[in-house]
Amino acid sequence: DVADIPRVPDWFQGYLESEGIDALYPPQAEAVERGVTEGDNLVAAIPTASGKTLVSTLAMLSSIADGGGKALYIVPLRALATEKNEEFAAFEEYGLDVGVSTGNYESDGGWLAGKDIIVATSEKVDSLVRNDAPWLEDLSCVVADEVHLVDDSHRGPTLEVTLAKLQSLNPDLQTVALSATIGNADELAAWLDADLVDSTWRPIELEKGVHFGDALHLEDGTQSRVPVRGNEDQPAAIVRDTLEEDGSTLVFVNSRRNAESAARRLGSTTEPFCSPAEKEQLTAVADEIREVSDTETSGDLADAVEQGAAFHHAGLARDHRSLVEEAFRDRLIKVVCATPTLAAGVNTPSRRVVVRDWRRYDGTAGGMQPLSVLEVHQMMGRAGRPGRDPYGEAVLVAKSHDELDELFERYVWAEPEPVESKLAAEPALRTHILATVASGFANSRGGLLDFLESTLYAEQTGERGRLETVVDDVIDYLDVNGFLTREGTDLTATNLGHTVSRLYLDPMSAAEILHGLEDAEEPTALGLYHLVSRTPDMYELYLRSGDEEEFTMLAYEREEELLGATPSEFEDGFEDWLSALKTARLLEDWASEKEEDEITERYGIGPGDIRSKVDTAQWLLGAAESLATERDLGLGPDIREARTRVEHGVRAELVDLAGVRGVGRKRARRLFETGIETRAELREADKSRVLAALRGREKTAETILENAGHRDPSMKSVEPDADVTVDDD
Ligand code: ADP
Repeated sequence: DVADIPRVPDWFQGYLESEGIDALYPPQAEAVERGVTEGDNLVAAIPTASGKTLVSTLAMLSSIADGGGKALYIVPLRALATEKNEEFAAFEEYGLDVGVSTGNYESDGGWLAGKDIIVATSEKVDSLVRNDAPWLEDLSCVVADEVHLVDDSHRGPTLEVTLAKLQSLNPDLQTVALSATIGNADELAAWLDADLVDSTWRPIELEKGVHFGDALHLEDGTQSRVPVRGNEDQPAAIVRDTLEEDGSTLVFVNSRRNAESAARRLGSTTEPFCSPAEKEQLTAVADEIREVSDTETSGDLADAVEQGAAFHHAGLARDHRSLVEEAFRDRLIKVVCATPTLAAGVNTPSRRVVVRDWRRYDGTAGGMQPLSVLEVHQMMGRAGRPGRDPYGEAVLVAKSHDELDELFERYVWAEPEPVESKLAAEPALRTHILATVASGFANSRGGLLDFLESTLYAEQTGERGRLETVVDDVIDYLDVNGFLTREGTDLTATNLGHTVSRLYLDPMSAAEILHGLEDAEEPTALGLYHLVSRTPDMYELYLRSGDEEEFTMLAYEREEELLGATPSEFEDGFEDWLSALKTARLLEDWASEKEEDEITERYGIGPGDIRSKVDTAQWLLGAAESLATERDLGLGPDIREARTRVEHGVRAELVDLAGVRGVGRKRARRLFETGIETRAELREADKSRVLAALRGREKTAETILENAGHRDPSMKSVEPDADVTVDDD
């Protein structure tokens, strides 16, 4: 009974009632029995949508109620941080302060000290540890969401090391780790010194199966007829069949392009099922989507939404994503075609889930690779909305009898794989070993190895030999490149090492940047963009056919601007160097005021990708500036200009104006063209001129003037000209 839960605050029961929860789900009750409200460590390995969040809430609230504690909730993705923050904001009504911290890796987040619950990504927490955030020692409870992602070679090691550090900072810390159902939850529990709730219970029944021919073959041995009619493909037949019972479908595909084309095609299936009233509402959503941005992706999405279909992937603008999620939850949108990366965690349950593609292109493995059982099961787990659907169904799609058998073997009947630590990979160790020494968690080779003993990697390998070999290689690298010094077995981070660790850079990125800056005289924006795009901290753009020639030409044309050594066309690494040039060129286009849709088309990416490249470049250029200062290279102004240009997407002459909040690249250009060229001029400007430059948007003009520090931003004295109130941004 919810009234019998020990040590939660008095208001908790009322909160549960307001959420419509009158009893704990069995795994939640088990978590309470195992002491989750009494400060005990816990690993909860429970299927998707089975109430993991409440398990963490129980832990966090009881640890805070216990007396001045503080809870940290670690998520793998920024999008999830926002989602969780909104969920936990409900506690503010009961007097708790909730804060979210994602961007800006260089601060100690002082303002977070006053919060009771903090939501952050693992990278952010790692950087807070490196920057010695003093409040970390006040933590009483840490929650790691989606902890099975320690298996991810890119982000897993950070989560692993961060949890180990938090535990070593504060031995009384309660650690709660939430995981999907996996093969070796017991190992995670052993690593975290935690009790285990390992359950397959779900609030709503889930039937898995495979569609083949004219039927859904379900795991209980039954079949139901879902015939493919006319020019339908299999997913269309399933979506139509679901709609005939008034249900919605989530379709997982393996690439953004496939998500877009599948949504386009499924629109003709969903359209006949939308009532006139729904169509009107869908048109309104489509209009909002078009307003967010004027790009091809935006237009395609709006077109699909008008027919009751949508796509959802990481290339979408954030506003687009939330519009789609909301309309899907409201059952206006009948089908969403999504890529798996993004759908992990986003709370959009649906009656049926179709996993259309079970292979995905993997560049490092050189071709199409099957998805893991864990991933497929997580997608499948999105099926069925408790309280709405009688049950959920999740199906794969087979094109032959052999494939039908294979998919049953491979996914329907299979157990998820065990998760494995990826810490021993060199890039991960390079970063984390430097940070561990720089922030004082270890100051000798032995201390370092002892610290690493508290990681999952050590728990899983059991033998110290392999770890020692990699660690020694990494120490060599860090020593040779001037990040740390050795005296006997003692290790000390150099000033440079401290800076790099605080900046949250991969040491290899720092070495590359310093190398490029050392003989630079007057670096250009393109040169600097290329330099930071070459580092392992910037994701590469793929070279498409024709790119190699185009960018090789560009390399010749702009040779003088490119920093550091230029590899020859025949050398290894030339392709990476060239693809960095492609990224640099994209950044330069953006910083030269090229239109967003021109850029997305030219580089074959989405608007969300421009944003993420720009964010990364901004961070790396900021870091480059700190490194240049550290080394007295005197390049500060050049780097700063390249950074602010890319930040605002403007040419140099607009940097000052675009820095005024609310102005942005387009408005800055318009103001500039009417002769208002700087912030100071804007502050003094005649209001009617500003209004004319902004084409009559009074509210905007007022806000901008106020932000620029205008003495009297009120526009009341100005008679707006009715003819120019055109809404064209
Ligand atoms: P996940 O395990 O994927 O994190 P959530 O914690 O988001 O799942 O829970 C899924 C849904 O179930 C949420 O809408 C939540 O409010 C609801 N829920 C959780 N626990 C209970 C409960 N004991 N009774 C009724 N609904 C619950």
